[in-house]
Amino acid sequence: MEMSQNLGRGQKVYITTYGCQMNEHDTERMYSLLELNKYLAATSPEEADIIIINSCSVREKPVHKVMSEIGTYKSLKETKSQLKIGVGGCVGQMEGKKLLQKARLLDFVFGTDSIDQLPQILDSVVQENKRDAWTRMGHRETYSLETLVRKTKVNAFVTITKGCDNFCSFCVVPFTRGRERSRLMSELISDVRGLVSRGVKEITLLGQNVNSYKCPEGAGGLSELLKRVCTETDVERVRFTTSHPKDFDDALIEVLAKHIDKLGHYVHLPAQSGSSKILEMMNRGYTREAYLEKVHKIKAAIPNVNLSTDIIVGFPGETDEDFEQTLSLLQEVEYENVYGFMYSPRPFTKALKYTEQVPEEIKNQRLQRLLEFQDSLSEKIVHKYDQKIFDVLVEGPSRHNKNVYIARTSHNKVVHFESDTDLVGKTLPMKIVRAQPFVLWGEVVSQ
Ligand code: SF4
Repeated sequence: MEMSQNLGRGQKVYITTYGCQMNEHDTERMYSLLELNKYLAATSPEEADIIIINSCSVREKPVHKVMSEIGTYKSLKETKSQLKIGVGGCVGQMEGKKLLQKARLLDFVFGTDSIDQLPQILDSVVQENKRDAWTRMGHRETYSLETLVRKTKVNAFVTITKGCDNFCSFCVVPFTRGRERSRLMSELISDVRGLVSRGVKEITLLGQNVNSYKCPEGAGGLSELLKRVCTETDVERVRFTTSHPKDFDDALIEVLAKHIDKLGHYVHLPAQSGSSKILEMMNRGYTREAYLEKVHKIKAAIPNVNLSTDIIVGFPGETDEDFEQTLSLLQEVEYENVYGFMYSPRPFTKALKYTEQVPEEIKNQRLQRLLEFQDSLSEKIVHKYDQKIFDVLVEGPSRHNKNVYIARTSHNKVVHFESDTDLVGKTLPMKIVRAQPFVLWGEVVSQ
């Protein structure tokens, strides 16, 4: 990673982050790039010379959220005339210059493909007093980067693809993150090796649809990448997200079973709905039956696998019967975790034009029912962990109690345990003494 010459000169930057893991990862990258260029991280907006809002447009009223956050800095900007405020992320990408017209307090906007130019953008904004938007998308450029982390932790995210070509009818990502591009497999392997040499034990390979990863030099897809990361690096654990059921193929399931020691007993497989009619309207590319067939194959290959999913309720045209099919899917698959969302119309998407929109009140009721239904299932399922012993990787101390540590099983289950000694980064056997749906409590088993 090349450094610019002393651009930051000790200026302090504060970044607020909305949205998904991809955005959190982007924020970490921004901070890292800025630190390489002599900027410093501020711990609060009051302390900052530059405030960046890393926005998300997946959920409701994204522009409104950005505008209201900018508004909260009004008095700060009045007392500190040199303060610069910028918006990055998906809203920045979509709105571009329009945001500058809407928000007088705003100094700059940059898109999802301009993160690596952030130090130079800030230089133009701070040194040249430029008020502008940087939102060009390089659809055809090679996607190459080095994973940057400021402080090495037990786990690190490594992006393998960016953008998405799937155009699910509810999703704005193809419009905000552009066409899908994959990184070179060789670059990814050396990236992981570099992180491991700095103490990282677990990596999460990240992409909007990791299953469609395809090495631009023809070295293979996700299954080949996982195999190589497991066999050619010393990383202890490998996770990947987000999967798309239509691209979750047999070769991948085979690799998951073969390298279970590193790939673990966890698969997040977003179903979105249990009704084939709704899945078709969502443009998901699979039916309920095809989805279930993959689930059965995964369960057969990975004993005791922990499955989780994402569900959207109240998609246009969703009837009570369609919703009941979603509940029956939950029952049939026996997910341990379900992330439920209410459908909300997004700009540019196909579903925005669907006429049979579901009233907010019904969406609300369905979401409540979905979550309650899943809670009752999770309550029963979690007992399978009780009194069992698992190897856990210790991630760090709990934020609330310094004697309590947080670890994870290979099923991606969070385990809390008490310890007087710092065990961060260690993998150790743990007996589960209390099993609750969202957290297990454990005791270290003496070796
Ligand atoms: S796969 Fe569908 S939901 Fe996921 S990012 Fe692409 S368009 Fe959006």
